Amino acid sequence: MFLKKLNNSEMWKKIQVLRDLIKNEKSFKKRVCWNCKKDLNIYDFLSDNLEFTAGYVLSLWQYSIFEFHCCECFKNLKREELEIIERELKNRYCLNCKTIIDIYKFSKEYNALKIQELKEVWLNPNSNIFCSGFCEKQYYRIKKGRT
Ligand SMILES: [Zn+2]
Ligand SMILES: [Zn+2]
Repeated sequence: MFLKKLNNSEMWKKIQVLRDLIKNEKSFKKRVCWNCKKDLNIYDFLSDNLEFTAGYVLSLWQYSIFEFHCCECFKNLKREELEIIERELKNRYCLNCKTIIDIYKFSKEYNALKIQELKEVWLNPNSNIFCSGFCEKQYYRIKKGRT
């Protein structure tokens, strides 16, 4: 997870900022996975939460009352939740190319969405579903061209 996103310059900047913040933090907290007790790495946590600032990530890490999961356990957890969504509605069609998609493919394409957001979009019959960001862009470009 961490290595995959390293080419992102915004990410690099955040890592630098976080590193400096940690240096100044007197009692940096050690966290373990709530489920398997494996040591957690704050930089993995940062890369999974790039929408937050480095300072906010550190404060979550230090003070959050929520338990954290490692990537592996988080994936399993997510998989279980996706299975629950799948049981409610198995397939949808891409609005642009009409390809049939399942919730696993959809969640992979839109991995920035939290599971609750995925569920809301997927189960709402009026929401526009696309197989990829490419199809989504194409659809709205064509639509804009028509009006
Ligand atoms: Zn774990
Ligand atoms: Zn499509």
